[in-house]
Amino acid sequence: MFNNSQKKVAVTVQSPSERTMNFDEVELGYDRNAATEEAHRCLGCKAKPCVSSCPVRVDIPSFINKIKENDPKGAYKIITQSNPFPAICGRVCPQEKQCESKCVRGKSGEPVAIGCLERYAADFGCDFSEKNINNKSGLFQHKIAVVGSGPAGLACASELLKIGFKVTVFEALHEFGGVLAYGIPKFRLPRKILNRELDKLKKSGAEMVNNAVIGKSLRVDELFNMGYSAVYIATGAGLPKFMNIPGESLAGIFSANEFLTRINLMNAHKEEYDTPLLNLGDVLVVGGGNVAMDAARCAIRSGAKSVKVMYRRSESEMPARLSEINHAKEEGVEFMLMSNPVEFCEDNGKISGVKFQKMKFSETDESGRRSVEPISGEIHKIDIDTAIIAIGNGSNPIVTESDNTIKCDRRGRIIVGENSARTSRKFVYAGGDIVTGAATVILAMGAGKKAAREIFEDLSLEFNISKI
Ligand code: FAD
Ligand code: SF4
Repeated sequence: MFNNSQKKVAVTVQSPSERTMNFDEVELGYDRNAATEEAHRCLGCKAKPCVSSCPVRVDIPSFINKIKENDPKGAYKIITQSNPFPAICGRVCPQEKQCESKCVRGKSGEPVAIGCLERYAADFGCDFSEKNINNKSGLFQHKIAVVGSGPAGLACASELLKIGFKVTVFEALHEFGGVLAYGIPKFRLPRKILNRELDKLKKSGAEMVNNAVIGKSLRVDELFNMGYSAVYIATGAGLPKFMNIPGESLAGIFSANEFLTRINLMNAHKEEYDTPLLNLGDVLVVGGGNVAMDAARCAIRSGAKSVKVMYRRSESEMPARLSEINHAKEEGVEFMLMSNPVEFCEDNGKISGVKFQKMKFSETDESGRRSVEPISGEIHKIDIDTAIIAIGNGSNPIVTESDNTIKCDRRGRIIVGENSARTSRKFVYAGGDIVTGAATVILAMGAGKKAAREIFEDLSLEFNISKI
């Protein structure tokens, strides 16, 4: 039975008053009835416009069809042919800019809730996948070093293991997962979801080494000397950018990376832990992306008196996922749009306020984005106790600084061949944010998976290993 409703089947969410008091998941997902009802909104279009705007080309109508047939495991099998971690992507992908933006149902109503259906299939399919771990690791004698355990590194490792290589994942931090662990808060991506994927990887034979900063504790040369046949660099874009305005080094000003890492990995919102972030007072978050929304919502949950997000363009230009913006608003975050900080004010070495410039739109830039310019004479000030800077991240330079045979562009991104993960150094590959600059989870996963296939191709040629 076709469901002709113009609206998506609503997802259960924790109420704002309840959720601002905890770090539990905000969206609770579909149960079987809701998922089946939503699946019946899909028209099963032959042209599959939703698929063409999915970065890894998941066969969306086919997996939705399995949900219609009450076969979430079948749906899960279809999704994982293209996407290794659907329980993660169902929760964090910007579907409104990808698959859902092209959904035919969106022309006269809301698009099919593809992300919610993906999450439903993944949550119900996990049982199945855990019982069916195909441990081929060690089929080939060659071992591969994966540097960085974010989505690019994890996807590459998972695919290499499926092919039959031995894999070691080296991670600089004490916890694995990259941004999925240190950046995205638990209320968006519960740790049990990430841990499930990490456990599967370990059960498939991956060796996981934490606190290993490649480029410092071990260089790429040394990895080859240790017997690794290839190295995949997936070190991400974890270098925070700042505005370089007066007062930016005052106490009470954090990069979003530091703020989120301290909360996500070190429980800084709890008094009893070693490095607490207490008495945040009135908080200003600068930026308009997911990082800014995550920082603002963590600040709310960490007892801030008030939280404002300052962004220099309007709401429609904000790069954050729509649902994060809406959730932030519901949780009491205020938005100061068309505003740009110009100076942080000091009281006794600590931040006490921010002066900001009101902006207006000027012409459209080459990327199609409307530029902004200051409105003359419109500088204002507000009092704040804490500022969190979330205006973007650059490439992490540690590996490439220790090995000048791996070429980078002027922004520190590793240069790879066209449509390839091969770097300028033989048997060294790279992918994810370290190549593209800050991007998305699904693009990083897609890059990691593709790189694994390339590594296999190159090693097959070099060492005459046969395809399985
Ligand atoms: P990362 O996830 O950054 O992982 C890189 C890993 O490499 C890290 O664990 C790092 O510690 C490790 N590393 C770095 N240097 C070394 C070294 N020398 N030796 C060993 N290990 C090293 N995208 C979305 O699609 N949806 C979202 O909702 C979303 N929200 C985000 C929220 C935040 C707070 C942030 C920061 C990003 C968000 N993104 C989101 C972007 C997305 O998370 C990234 O594009 C993605 O994680 C990139 O994956 P990656 O594997 O390339 O790098
Ligand atoms: Fe279903 Fe929308 Fe894709 Fe058509 S475009 S197959 S309705 S999800």
